[in-house]
Amino acid sequence: MLKNNLIKHLKIVRRFVLLQWFALFDYDFIKSLLMNTIAHIPLPKYKRIVIIGAGFAGLRLARRLFNSGYQVVILDKNNYHQFQPLFYQVATAGLEPSAISFPLRVLFQKQEGFHFRIAELLSVDPQKQEVTTSIGRLPYDFLVIAAGGETNFFGNSQIQDQALTMKSVSDAIQIRNTILTNYERALNQIDANEMAAYLNMVIVGGGPTGVELAGALAEMKKYILPKDYPELDFGLMKIYLFEGSPRLLNGMSEKSGNQVAKYLKNMDVEVLLNTRVVDASPGKVVLQDGSIHNTHTLIWAAGIKAVQITGIPDHCFGNAGRLLTSEYSKVVELEHVFALGDIALMQNETTPKGHPQVAQVAIQQADCLATNLLREKDNKIWKKFVYTDKGSMATVGRNQAVADLPGIHLKGFVAWFLWSAVHLMSIIGVKNRFFIMWDWVWNYFSYNQTLRLLIKPNIPKNYTEDKN
Ligand SMILES: Cc1cc2nc3c(=O)[nH]c(=O)nc-3n(C[C@H](O)[C@H](O)[C@H](O)COP(=O)(O)OP(=O)(O)OC[C@H]3O[C@@H](n4cnc5c(N)ncnc54)[C@H](O)[C@@H]3O)c2cc1C
Repeated sequence: MLKNNLIKHLKIVRRFVLLQWFALFDYDFIKSLLMNTIAHIPLPKYKRIVIIGAGFAGLRLARRLFNSGYQVVILDKNNYHQFQPLFYQVATAGLEPSAISFPLRVLFQKQEGFHFRIAELLSVDPQKQEVTTSIGRLPYDFLVIAAGGETNFFGNSQIQDQALTMKSVSDAIQIRNTILTNYERALNQIDANEMAAYLNMVIVGGGPTGVELAGALAEMKKYILPKDYPELDFGLMKIYLFEGSPRLLNGMSEKSGNQVAKYLKNMDVEVLLNTRVVDASPGKVVLQDGSIHNTHTLIWAAGIKAVQITGIPDHCFGNAGRLLTSEYSKVVELEHVFALGDIALMQNETTPKGHPQVAQVAIQQADCLATNLLREKDNKIWKKFVYTDKGSMATVGRNQAVADLPGIHLKGFVAWFLWSAVHLMSIIGVKNRFFIMWDWVWNYFSYNQTLRLLIKPNIPKNYTEDKN
């Protein structure tokens, strides 16, 4: 009896000492060290939702889950949200990179149960319900993959080595730096052909990105570059837009595609349809008919594939590496794993090829999943996703745009004004909206873009980045 009492009391003392120890040294920190999980993320009070990617879909979902009672962990490669539709204006020196990027931590300030980390998803273990990331592992109750897409070179490594892409703000800055550097280099050329190679620009892909970029470059050629570089012969400069199919803007109406081709031709852009680029080497691109175009600026806007996700069984992937999902955005045959936006492929009778990879789809899918996750808490039945197409738009320059809205097609100034208003209202942050509006008004009336700065990071010789 005495012995039993002694053991009981010793156990109580031991538990007390252990509790003091954990309280003193931060239990979560010690646990994360022992288990290699992400540090300082406490065990959830209810359930944990891990969101991969804070793009249009991931960010929308996270914001819809404020005050929901779930613990939400958002992981992204970057510490900012990027507004992709205006990348081309950063690439052509029309907007500051910071005007179209928004710091994520600002959005999650004061949100209880929200945790953000800069981290890259390395793999998913659906059995263990756990992700492995560049900063450690993390178990989940629900996993939402919203990592978007990346450039598709369709396996052509020569083109991949030579081409610039436009999938991130960093890519857009790289295009801006390349264009400006090439113009400085053109000034040093005696030979006219060499000078032309530095002035020429080739854009591959006649979707919205390609046509918007071609239009912005044509405006630079007309209004800005001759003022900055009076010694250069701009008669030598050509802007090419190559498109593999018979028309531009395949995701929009034929009317819009033809109208945009007309606008671009009037702006002196050489639009070549049914034309595929098959090879590239420094200073050259080769077309399928064997013809060669000399350029040091090759921009690839011709394809998109899903960001690769390791650990998910092969049969869960569809065309271009997109994750096959049900109408509830659940990845097929996986429990508690969802995919949203560009990375998801939701096929049914109305959308046999899935939804278009545009911001509205990502936002609406996020809204639907948020509603369902909130219904899950209340044990209510989930709702199926139904896409409402609000229309699409593209612009090629001042007063020139096309818009396919439900039941109506617009072009010219009205479409351009609508495009500007919609994009301005879609930008996150009042300050960003103000700066963009200011830059647009300034550029519109002055015919001048003031951001033609060649700023490159100065990285110390032996510097290696700490990835942890
Ligand atoms: C140049 C350009 C112009 C466009 N213009 C338009 C337009 O005018 N209108 C329109 O509707 N749509 C447009 N789109 C398409 C639109 O931007 C996409 O459909 C939309 O961004 C998809 O949203 P998402 O959330 O699926 O992915 P994204 O918005 O791409 O977000 C993905 C996020 O995941 C992060 N991420 C990626 N991989 C990892 C990883 N391994 N680990 C952690 N984080 C990761 C990324 O950093 C990013 O923040 C354009 C796209 C581009 C590239």
